[in-house]
Amino acid sequence: MEKHSIELVDTRFSYSVRYRGEIYAHNFDSDIRRNLQPEIERFQKLLKLLKWFGRLTRSRSRLLNSLNPFNYVSMGFVLNLGRFSGDFRYKILKPMFVNFLMATNVFDMPVSLFSRYLEFFDIESATPMQTWERGTRRIYEELSASFKDKIYLDRPVRRVYRRPSEVVVEDENGKTETFDDIVFACNANQTLMILDKPTLLESYLLSSIRYESELHNHTIVHSDASVLPENDVEPLATRSNHVEQYGVRPDNYEITYIMHNQQPWANRSDKPCLVTYNPISHISEEKIIKKWWFQHIVHDVFHVSFLIHMFRFVQGNQRTWHCGAHTLINSQETCFVSGLATARQLGSEYPFQDPETRKWFNYYGRMMYGWRFKKA
Ligand SMILES: Cc1cc2nc3c(=O)[nH]c(=O)nc-3n(C[C@H](O)[C@H](O)[C@H](O)COP(=O)(O)OP(=O)(O)OC[C@H]3O[C@@H](n4cnc5c(N)ncnc54)[C@H](O)[C@@H]3O)c2cc1C
Repeated sequence: MEKHSIELVDTRFSYSVRYRGEIYAHNFDSDIRRNLQPEIERFQKLLKLLKWFGRLTRSRSRLLNSLNPFNYVSMGFVLNLGRFSGDFRYKILKPMFVNFLMATNVFDMPVSLFSRYLEFFDIESATPMQTWERGTRRIYEELSASFKDKIYLDRPVRRVYRRPSEVVVEDENGKTETFDDIVFACNANQTLMILDKPTLLESYLLSSIRYESELHNHTIVHSDASVLPENDVEPLATRSNHVEQYGVRPDNYEITYIMHNQQPWANRSDKPCLVTYNPISHISEEKIIKKWWFQHIVHDVFHVSFLIHMFRFVQGNQRTWHCGAHTLINSQETCFVSGLATARQLGSEYPFQDPETRKWFNYYGRMMYGWRFKKA
Protein backbone atom coordinates (compact mmCIF):
# COMPACT_ATOMS: atom_id res chain seq x y z
CA MET A 1 0.00 0.00 0.00
CA GLU A 2 2.77 2.40 0.96
CA LYS A 3 4.63 1.63 -2.24
CA HIS A 4 1.61 2.74 -4.28
CA SER A 5 0.69 5.63 -1.94
CA ILE A 6 -2.64 4.06 -1.08
CA GLU A 7 -3.97 5.34 2.22
CA LEU A 8 -5.77 2.94 4.53
CA VAL A 9 -9.33 3.59 5.71
CA ASP A 10 -10.71 2.24 8.98
CA THR A 11 -13.68 -0.10 8.86
CA ARG A 12 -14.98 -3.03 10.88
CA PHE A 13 -16.50 -6.46 10.46
CA SER A 14 -19.80 -6.51 12.32
CA TYR A 15 -22.47 -9.07 11.49
CA SER A 16 -26.10 -9.49 12.40
CA VAL A 17 -28.30 -12.57 12.04
CA ARG A 18 -32.06 -12.89 11.86
CA TYR A 19 -33.01 -16.44 12.72
CA ARG A 20 -36.70 -17.32 12.66
CA GLY A 21 -37.68 -13.99 14.20
CA GLU A 22 -34.80 -13.92 16.71
CA ILE A 23 -31.67 -11.78 16.47
CA TYR A 24 -27.98 -12.36 17.07
CA ALA A 25 -25.36 -9.70 16.39
CA HIS A 26 -21.92 -8.52 17.39
CA ASN A 27 -21.91 -6.36 20.53
CA PHE A 28 -25.65 -6.79 21.01
CA ASP A 29 -27.58 -8.30 23.88
CA SER A 30 -30.32 -10.65 22.61
CA ASP A 31 -32.25 -13.76 23.58
CA ILE A 32 -30.01 -15.96 21.42
CA ARG A 33 -26.93 -14.58 23.13
CA ARG A 34 -28.37 -15.02 26.63
CA ASN A 35 -29.62 -18.54 25.96
CA LEU A 36 -26.38 -19.67 24.38
CA GLN A 37 -23.99 -17.81 26.70
CA PRO A 38 -22.64 -21.02 28.40
CA GLU A 39 -21.82 -22.47 24.96
CA ILE A 40 -20.27 -19.21 23.79
CA GLU A 41 -17.98 -19.30 26.83
CA ARG A 42 -17.14 -22.98 26.28
CA PHE A 43 -16.32 -22.25 22.65
CA GLN A 44 -14.06 -19.34 23.63
CA LYS A 45 -12.19 -21.73 25.98
CA LEU A 46 -11.81 -24.23 23.15
CA LEU A 47 -10.38 -21.45 20.98
CA LYS A 48 -7.73 -20.70 23.60
CA LEU A 49 -6.57 -24.31 23.36
CA LEU A 50 -6.61 -24.19 19.56
CA LYS A 51 -4.69 -20.92 19.62
CA TRP A 52 -2.03 -22.62 21.71
CA PHE A 53 -1.64 -25.34 19.07
CA GLY A 54 -1.84 -22.63 16.41
CA ARG A 55 1.64 -21.53 17.49
CA LEU A 56 2.93 -24.52 15.54
CA THR A 57 1.44 -23.02 12.38
CA ARG A 58 2.42 -19.44 13.17
CA SER A 59 6.02 -20.61 13.66
CA ARG A 60 6.28 -20.71 9.85
CA SER A 61 8.10 -24.02 10.12
CA ARG A 62 6.60 -26.66 7.87
CA LEU A 63 7.81 -29.36 10.23
CA LEU A 64 6.21 -27.80 13.31
CA ASN A 65 3.05 -27.04 11.34
CA SER A 66 2.80 -30.69 10.31
CA LEU A 67 2.82 -31.62 14.03
CA ASN A 68 -0.36 -29.66 14.71
CA PRO A 69 -2.94 -32.46 15.27
CA PHE A 70 -5.77 -30.06 14.43
CA ASN A 71 -4.65 -29.99 10.78
CA TYR A 72 -6.04 -33.47 10.41
CA VAL A 73 -9.51 -33.25 11.91
CA SER A 74 -12.49 -31.25 10.73
CA MET A 75 -14.20 -28.51 12.70
CA GLY A 76 -17.43 -30.52 12.48
CA PHE A 77 -15.73 -33.43 14.25
CA VAL A 78 -14.57 -31.21 17.13
CA LEU A 79 -17.97 -29.53 17.45
CA ASN A 80 -19.56 -32.98 17.63
CA LEU A 81 -17.02 -34.13 20.20
CA GLY A 82 -17.64 -31.01 22.28
CA ARG A 83 -21.40 -31.60 21.91
CA PHE A 84 -22.06 -28.08 20.72
CA SER A 85 -25.74 -27.58 19.96
CA GLY A 86 -27.34 -27.01 16.59
CA ASP A 87 -28.50 -23.62 17.88
CA PHE A 88 -24.94 -22.51 18.62
CA ARG A 89 -23.70 -23.79 15.26
CA TYR A 90 -26.49 -22.40 13.08
CA LYS A 91 -27.47 -19.19 14.88
CA ILE A 92 -24.00 -17.91 15.75
CA LEU A 93 -21.01 -19.76 14.31
CA LYS A 94 -22.04 -20.76 10.81
CA PRO A 95 -23.68 -17.43 9.91
CA MET A 96 -20.35 -15.74 10.62
CA PHE A 97 -18.38 -18.27 8.59
CA VAL A 98 -20.65 -18.25 5.55
CA ASN A 99 -19.73 -14.58 5.29
CA PHE A 100 -16.08 -15.50 4.92
CA LEU A 101 -16.34 -18.66 2.90
CA MET A 102 -19.49 -18.41 0.81
CA ALA A 103 -19.72 -22.18 1.03
CA THR A 104 -22.13 -24.24 3.04
CA ASN A 105 -19.61 -26.94 4.07
CA VAL A 106 -17.80 -24.66 6.49
CA PHE A 107 -17.40 -27.32 9.18
CA ASP A 108 -15.52 -29.62 6.77
CA MET A 109 -12.55 -27.30 7.17
CA PRO A 110 -9.58 -28.48 9.25
CA VAL A 111 -9.84 -27.15 12.81
CA SER A 112 -6.48 -25.37 12.54
CA LEU A 113 -7.59 -23.34 9.52
CA PHE A 114 -11.04 -22.67 10.95
CA SER A 115 -9.60 -21.41 14.22
CA ARG A 116 -7.06 -19.26 12.36
CA TYR A 117 -9.98 -17.08 11.18
CA LEU A 118 -10.97 -16.72 14.83
CA GLU A 119 -7.58 -15.26 15.68
CA PHE A 120 -8.77 -12.19 13.72
CA PHE A 121 -12.53 -12.39 14.11
CA ASP A 122 -14.67 -12.99 17.17
CA ILE A 123 -18.18 -14.38 17.52
CA GLU A 124 -19.16 -11.82 20.19
CA SER A 125 -17.54 -8.52 19.22
CA ALA A 126 -16.99 -6.61 16.00
CA THR A 127 -13.46 -6.61 14.56
CA PRO A 128 -11.76 -3.37 13.51
CA MET A 129 -10.22 -3.72 10.06
CA GLN A 130 -8.67 -1.56 7.39
CA THR A 131 -9.52 -1.13 3.76
CA TRP A 132 -8.70 1.45 1.09
CA GLU A 133 -10.41 3.61 -1.50
CA ARG A 134 -11.83 1.73 -4.52
CA GLY A 135 -10.97 -1.71 -3.09
CA THR A 136 -9.24 -4.59 -4.81
CA ARG A 137 -9.51 -3.20 -8.34
CA ARG A 138 -7.32 -0.25 -7.41
CA ILE A 139 -4.43 -2.32 -6.08
CA TYR A 140 -4.43 -4.56 -9.16
CA GLU A 141 -4.54 -1.52 -11.44
CA GLU A 142 -1.51 -0.11 -9.64
CA LEU A 143 0.41 -3.40 -9.66
CA SER A 144 -0.20 -4.05 -13.36
CA ALA A 145 0.22 -0.45 -14.59
CA SER A 146 3.63 -1.10 -16.23
CA PHE A 147 2.47 -4.12 -18.28
CA LYS A 148 -1.18 -3.32 -18.85
CA ASP A 149 -0.82 -3.61 -22.62
CA LYS A 150 0.22 -7.27 -22.23
CA ILE A 151 -2.97 -8.34 -20.46
CA TYR A 152 -5.89 -9.71 -22.45
CA LEU A 153 -9.30 -9.29 -20.88
CA ASP A 154 -12.58 -10.86 -22.02
CA ARG A 155 -10.70 -13.43 -24.02
CA PRO A 156 -11.51 -16.85 -22.57
CA VAL A 157 -9.11 -19.68 -23.24
CA ARG A 158 -10.71 -22.71 -24.86
CA ARG A 159 -7.80 -25.15 -25.09
CA VAL A 160 -4.15 -25.44 -24.13
CA TYR A 161 -1.86 -27.77 -26.11
CA ARG A 162 1.57 -28.63 -24.75
CA ARG A 163 4.41 -29.21 -27.23
CA PRO A 164 8.03 -30.17 -26.37
CA SER A 165 9.29 -26.58 -26.88
CA GLU A 166 6.19 -24.39 -26.48
CA VAL A 167 2.65 -24.10 -25.25
CA VAL A 168 -0.15 -23.30 -27.70
CA VAL A 169 -3.13 -21.40 -26.27
CA GLU A 170 -6.36 -21.32 -28.24
CA ASP A 171 -9.02 -18.73 -27.39
CA GLU A 172 -12.79 -19.13 -27.72
CA ASN A 173 -12.68 -17.82 -31.30
CA GLY A 174 -10.14 -20.44 -32.28
CA LYS A 175 -7.25 -17.94 -32.51
CA THR A 176 -3.96 -19.42 -31.25
CA GLU A 177 -0.79 -17.95 -29.75
CA THR A 178 2.35 -19.70 -28.51
CA PHE A 179 4.18 -19.15 -25.24
CA ASP A 180 7.20 -20.60 -23.41
CA ASP A 181 5.16 -21.63 -20.36
CA ILE A 182 1.60 -21.42 -19.10
CA VAL A 183 0.40 -20.51 -15.60
CA PHE A 184 -3.16 -21.58 -14.86
CA ALA A 185 -4.70 -19.06 -12.46
CA CYS A 186 -8.29 -20.24 -12.98
CA ASN A 187 -10.13 -22.76 -10.81
CA ALA A 188 -8.97 -26.39 -10.86
CA ASN A 189 -12.04 -27.76 -12.65
CA GLN A 190 -11.74 -25.01 -15.27
CA THR A 191 -8.07 -25.89 -15.84
CA LEU A 192 -8.97 -29.52 -16.36
CA MET A 193 -11.55 -28.59 -18.99
CA ILE A 194 -9.04 -26.46 -20.90
CA LEU A 195 -5.95 -28.68 -20.69
CA ASP A 196 -5.38 -30.99 -23.65
CA LYS A 197 -4.09 -34.43 -22.68
CA PRO A 198 -3.63 -33.93 -18.93
CA THR A 199 -1.46 -36.52 -17.22
CA LEU A 200 -2.99 -39.01 -14.81
CA LEU A 201 -1.68 -37.07 -11.80
CA GLU A 202 -2.90 -33.73 -13.19
CA SER A 203 -6.34 -35.22 -13.81
CA TYR A 204 -6.45 -36.72 -10.33
CA LEU A 205 -5.40 -33.51 -8.54
CA LEU A 206 -7.49 -31.09 -10.56
CA SER A 207 -10.61 -33.25 -10.34
CA SER A 208 -10.18 -33.85 -6.58
CA ILE A 209 -10.67 -30.19 -5.65
CA ARG A 210 -14.20 -29.66 -4.35
CA TYR A 211 -16.23 -26.58 -5.25
CA GLU A 212 -19.42 -25.38 -3.67
CA SER A 213 -21.67 -24.44 -6.52
CA GLU A 214 -25.11 -25.37 -5.26
CA LEU A 215 -26.18 -23.20 -2.37
CA HIS A 216 -24.19 -19.98 -2.08
CA ASN A 217 -23.47 -19.66 -5.76
CA HIS A 218 -25.29 -16.64 -7.08
CA THR A 219 -25.24 -13.02 -6.14
CA ILE A 220 -26.92 -9.71 -6.93
CA VAL A 221 -25.33 -6.28 -6.68
CA HIS A 222 -28.13 -3.82 -5.94
CA SER A 223 -29.46 -0.89 -3.93
CA ASP A 224 -32.73 -2.36 -2.61
CA ALA A 225 -32.60 -1.91 1.19
CA SER A 226 -35.84 -3.88 1.64
CA VAL A 227 -33.74 -7.09 1.87
CA LEU A 228 -32.54 -5.90 5.29
CA PRO A 229 -34.75 -5.96 8.38
CA GLU A 230 -35.51 -2.75 10.23
CA ASN A 231 -34.71 -3.87 13.76
CA ASP A 232 -32.64 -2.93 16.81
CA VAL A 233 -29.32 -4.04 15.33
CA GLU A 234 -29.79 -1.56 12.44
CA PRO A 235 -28.10 -3.54 9.68
CA LEU A 236 -28.46 -0.85 7.00
CA ALA A 237 -26.80 1.82 9.12
CA THR A 238 -24.30 -0.04 11.28
CA ARG A 239 -23.45 -3.57 10.11
CA SER A 240 -21.02 -4.83 7.49
CA ASN A 241 -22.95 -8.08 6.91
CA HIS A 242 -26.43 -9.37 7.54
CA VAL A 243 -27.43 -13.04 7.47
CA GLU A 244 -31.03 -14.12 7.15
CA GLN A 245 -31.96 -17.75 7.80
CA TYR A 246 -34.89 -19.01 5.72
CA GLY A 247 -36.88 -22.20 5.12
CA VAL A 248 -36.87 -25.55 6.89
CA ARG A 249 -33.16 -26.29 6.77
CA PRO A 250 -31.45 -24.80 9.84
CA ASP A 251 -28.55 -23.49 7.77
CA ASN A 252 -30.13 -21.94 4.70
CA TYR A 253 -28.98 -18.36 4.60
CA GLU A 254 -29.41 -15.28 2.49
CA ILE A 255 -26.32 -13.15 3.05
CA THR A 256 -26.10 -9.44 2.37
CA TYR A 257 -22.82 -7.57 2.34
CA ILE A 258 -23.62 -3.99 3.31
CA MET A 259 -20.86 -2.52 1.22
CA HIS A 260 -21.38 1.14 2.14
CA ASN A 261 -20.55 0.21 5.77
CA GLN A 262 -17.88 -2.34 4.93
CA GLN A 263 -16.11 -0.07 2.41
CA PRO A 264 -16.70 3.43 3.85
CA TRP A 265 -15.64 5.11 0.58
CA ALA A 266 -18.79 3.63 -1.03
CA ASN A 267 -20.82 5.70 1.41
CA ARG A 268 -20.50 8.69 -0.90
CA SER A 269 -23.23 7.15 -3.04
CA ASP A 270 -26.76 8.46 -2.45
CA LYS A 271 -28.03 4.84 -2.60
CA PRO A 272 -27.37 1.80 -0.40
CA CYS A 273 -24.58 -0.35 -1.86
CA LEU A 274 -25.56 -3.97 -1.27
CA VAL A 275 -24.44 -7.38 -2.46
CA THR A 276 -26.86 -10.22 -1.69
CA TYR A 277 -25.70 -13.82 -1.98
CA ASN A 278 -28.17 -16.63 -2.35
CA PRO A 279 -31.00 -14.08 -2.77
CA ILE A 280 -34.41 -15.23 -1.56
CA SER A 281 -35.98 -11.85 -0.78
CA HIS A 282 -37.60 -9.98 -3.65
CA ILE A 283 -35.15 -7.47 -5.10
CA SER A 284 -36.63 -4.73 -7.23
CA GLU A 285 -35.42 -5.16 -10.86
CA GLU A 286 -34.74 -1.45 -11.34
CA LYS A 287 -32.43 -1.48 -8.32
CA ILE A 288 -30.30 -4.34 -9.64
CA ILE A 289 -26.87 -3.39 -10.96
CA LYS A 290 -25.48 -6.81 -11.73
CA LYS A 291 -26.18 -10.52 -11.33
CA TRP A 292 -23.30 -12.94 -11.02
CA TRP A 293 -22.62 -16.64 -10.57
CA PHE A 294 -19.60 -18.09 -8.79
CA GLN A 295 -18.22 -21.27 -7.30
CA HIS A 296 -16.29 -21.39 -4.07
CA ILE A 297 -13.61 -23.87 -3.10
CA VAL A 298 -14.22 -26.21 -0.15
CA HIS A 299 -11.09 -26.43 1.99
CA ASP A 300 -11.64 -29.81 3.59
CA VAL A 301 -9.05 -31.80 5.56
CA PHE A 302 -8.04 -33.92 2.54
CA HIS A 303 -7.46 -30.83 0.44
CA VAL A 304 -5.41 -28.95 3.01
CA SER A 305 -3.37 -31.82 4.39
CA PHE A 306 -2.81 -33.79 1.18
CA LEU A 307 -3.83 -32.32 -2.16
CA ILE A 308 -2.12 -28.94 -1.75
CA HIS A 309 1.20 -30.69 -1.07
CA MET A 310 0.81 -32.93 -4.12
CA PHE A 311 0.67 -30.02 -6.56
CA ARG A 312 4.45 -29.61 -6.39
CA PHE A 313 4.75 -32.89 -8.32
CA VAL A 314 2.99 -31.41 -11.35
CA GLN A 315 4.31 -27.84 -11.11
CA GLY A 316 6.55 -26.97 -14.07
CA ASN A 317 6.00 -30.30 -15.82
CA GLN A 318 5.43 -29.85 -19.55
CA ARG A 319 5.85 -26.05 -19.13
CA THR A 320 2.69 -25.93 -17.02
CA TRP A 321 2.22 -24.16 -13.68
CA HIS A 322 -0.69 -23.75 -11.30
CA CYS A 323 -1.62 -21.04 -8.81
CA GLY A 324 -4.77 -19.80 -7.08
CA ALA A 325 -7.02 -20.88 -4.23
CA HIS A 326 -6.66 -24.63 -4.78
CA THR A 327 -2.86 -24.45 -4.56
CA LEU A 328 -2.70 -22.57 -1.25
CA ILE A 329 -5.52 -20.96 0.78
CA ASN A 330 -8.67 -19.29 -0.43
CA SER A 331 -8.29 -15.58 0.22
CA GLN A 332 -7.43 -12.74 -2.07
CA GLU A 333 -4.07 -12.18 -0.43
CA THR A 334 -2.88 -15.79 -0.36
CA CYS A 335 -4.09 -16.37 -3.94
CA PHE A 336 -2.10 -13.35 -5.01
CA VAL A 337 0.90 -14.74 -3.11
CA SER A 338 0.47 -18.09 -4.90
CA GLY A 339 0.78 -16.23 -8.22
CA LEU A 340 3.86 -14.35 -7.01
CA ALA A 341 5.44 -17.60 -5.79
CA THR A 342 4.86 -19.16 -9.19
CA ALA A 343 6.36 -16.13 -10.92
CA ARG A 344 9.37 -16.51 -8.61
CA GLN A 345 9.76 -20.17 -9.67
CA LEU A 346 9.74 -18.97 -13.25
CA GLY A 347 12.63 -16.62 -12.46
CA SER A 348 11.15 -13.26 -11.49
CA GLU A 349 12.26 -11.15 -8.52
CA TYR A 350 10.19 -10.81 -5.37
CA PRO A 351 8.95 -7.21 -5.59
CA PHE A 352 8.43 -6.15 -1.94
CA GLN A 353 10.86 -5.09 0.80
CA ASP A 354 9.02 -5.66 4.07
CA PRO A 355 10.92 -8.43 6.01
CA GLU A 356 7.84 -9.90 7.73
CA THR A 357 5.93 -10.14 4.44
CA ARG A 358 8.95 -11.80 2.86
CA LYS A 359 9.04 -14.44 5.59
CA TRP A 360 5.39 -15.30 5.01
CA PHE A 361 6.01 -15.33 1.26
CA ASN A 362 8.80 -17.87 1.69
CA TYR A 363 6.67 -19.97 4.00
CA TYR A 364 3.78 -20.08 1.54
CA GLY A 365 6.18 -20.65 -1.36
CA ARG A 366 7.65 -23.67 0.41
CA MET A 367 4.17 -24.96 1.14
CA MET A 368 3.47 -24.90 -2.62
CA TYR A 369 6.83 -25.98 -4.00
CA GLY A 370 8.62 -27.75 -1.15
CA TRP A 371 12.41 -27.56 -0.94
CA ARG A 372 12.67 -26.60 -4.62
CA PHE A 373 11.10 -23.20 -3.92
CA LYS A 374 13.43 -20.31 -4.86
CA LYS A 375 13.28 -18.31 -1.66
CA ALA A 376 12.99 -14.52 -1.88
C1 LIG B 1 -18.44 -14.05 -3.34
C2 LIG B 1 -17.03 -14.07 -2.88
C3 LIG B 1 -16.61 -13.21 -1.85
C4 LIG B 1 -15.29 -13.24 -1.43
N1 LIG B 1 -14.86 -12.37 -0.44
C5 LIG B 1 -13.55 -12.34 -0.08
C6 LIG B 1 -13.06 -11.39 0.87
O1 LIG B 1 -13.81 -10.56 1.39
N2 LIG B 1 -11.74 -11.42 1.19
C7 LIG B 1 -10.87 -12.32 0.63
O2 LIG B 1 -9.69 -12.30 0.95
N3 LIG B 1 -11.32 -13.23 -0.26
C8 LIG B 1 -12.61 -13.25 -0.64
N4 LIG B 1 -13.07 -14.16 -1.55
C9 LIG B 1 -12.14 -15.18 -2.00
C10 LIG B 1 -11.25 -14.67 -3.10
O3 LIG B 1 -11.99 -13.90 -4.00
C11 LIG B 1 -10.65 -15.88 -3.77
O4 LIG B 1 -9.88 -16.57 -2.80
C12 LIG B 1 -9.73 -15.51 -4.90
O5 LIG B 1 -10.32 -14.62 -5.79
C13 LIG B 1 -9.37 -16.78 -5.63
O6 LIG B 1 -8.39 -16.43 -6.54
P1 LIG B 1 -8.04 -17.38 -7.74
O7 LIG B 1 -6.96 -16.69 -8.49
O8 LIG B 1 -7.83 -18.76 -7.27
O9 LIG B 1 -9.37 -17.47 -8.62
P2 LIG B 1 -10.39 -16.32 -9.21
O10 LIG B 1 -10.20 -15.06 -8.47
O11 LIG B 1 -11.68 -17.03 -9.20
O12 LIG B 1 -9.81 -16.12 -10.64
C14 LIG B 1 -9.94 -17.10 -11.64
C15 LIG B 1 -10.06 -16.35 -12.96
O13 LIG B 1 -9.96 -17.30 -14.01
C16 LIG B 1 -10.81 -16.82 -15.03
N5 LIG B 1 -11.10 -17.92 -15.95
C17 LIG B 1 -11.84 -19.04 -15.73
N6 LIG B 1 -11.88 -19.80 -16.84
C18 LIG B 1 -11.16 -19.14 -17.78
C19 LIG B 1 -10.85 -19.41 -19.15
N7 LIG B 1 -11.29 -20.51 -19.77
N8 LIG B 1 -10.10 -18.51 -19.81
C20 LIG B 1 -9.64 -17.40 -19.20
N9 LIG B 1 -9.90 -17.08 -17.92
C21 LIG B 1 -10.66 -17.95 -17.22
C22 LIG B 1 -12.04 -16.34 -14.30
O14 LIG B 1 -12.77 -15.46 -15.12
C23 LIG B 1 -11.39 -15.63 -13.12
O15 LIG B 1 -11.14 -14.27 -13.38
C24 LIG B 1 -14.39 -14.13 -2.01
C25 LIG B 1 -14.81 -14.97 -3.06
C26 LIG B 1 -16.12 -14.94 -3.49
C27 LIG B 1 -16.56 -15.85 -4.63
